Amino acid sequence: MTTASNNSKRQCLVMGNWKMHGTLADNAKLLAALRPYASKNAAMAVCVPFPYLAQAQDALKGSSVTWGAQDISVHSHGAYTGEVSGAMLKDFGCRWTLVGHSERRSMHAESDQLVADKARAALAVGLTPVVCVGESLAERDAGQAVAVIQRQLAPVLALGADSVNQLVVAYEPVWAIGTGRTATPEQAQEVHAAIRAALSAIGAGNIQILYGGSVKAANAASLFSMPDIDGALVGGAALIADEFLSIAACGDQA
Ligand code: PEP
Repeated sequence: MTTASNNSKRQCLVMGNWKMHGTLADNAKLLAALRPYASKNAAMAVCVPFPYLAQAQDALKGSSVTWGAQDISVHSHGAYTGEVSGAMLKDFGCRWTLVGHSERRSMHAESDQLVADKARAALAVGLTPVVCVGESLAERDAGQAVAVIQRQLAPVLALGADSVNQLVVAYEPVWAIGTGRTATPEQAQEVHAAIRAALSAIGAGNIQILYGGSVKAANAASLFSMPDIDGALVGGAALIADEFLSIAACGDQA
């Protein structure tokens, strides 16, 4: 088993992924509840659907909660119907964008190379890409989890240490996303340590690696206690203010 490979823990980051959920009215309540969050050890962020970026910006500006998008175009501008560029995200104050979420990899056939190209496009405009990686249940059962993640990360690592040191990685086992089935802290730590070893090999071993997959207040503390887990990417539980705030509180105590 791969063991923890790093010394001091990085700042905890608790990031919500709203996916394709929300209405103006529901978002207003959720954002108002998150806005007073005062970041201590754990920073809080939300990745909202494109149409609600302006609402998130209005509701969160001046607070310690940051916001971002769930995807980015690889192109800077042009005839790409339906795409949204990094510069457009910057216009709405985004700090983050997810790239390579498993739902985009599987439903939109995003390749490992495209995901790396999206990370590069984000960095080019000063956004922090959160590069999502994770294995399917069949791949885990075949003992391929780490190999799959190394394959997914390879084109990202090829961007070089200067770029990789500016991004965040999220390990999200596909079998744990939206299923209620969380990786055990030990299962997650094993993969996180392998990811950190791959990052360390190119001189980027100290970036944040988030865990995602059915994180909730009840399991966040045990996940955050692992040496290579630096926070969480949270789907369903990020839509419930009290639950999301409780996850962040676990991060504050980690
Ligand atoms: C996600 O969407 O990235 C995710 C981890 O979802 P959930 O927390 O609902 O499993």
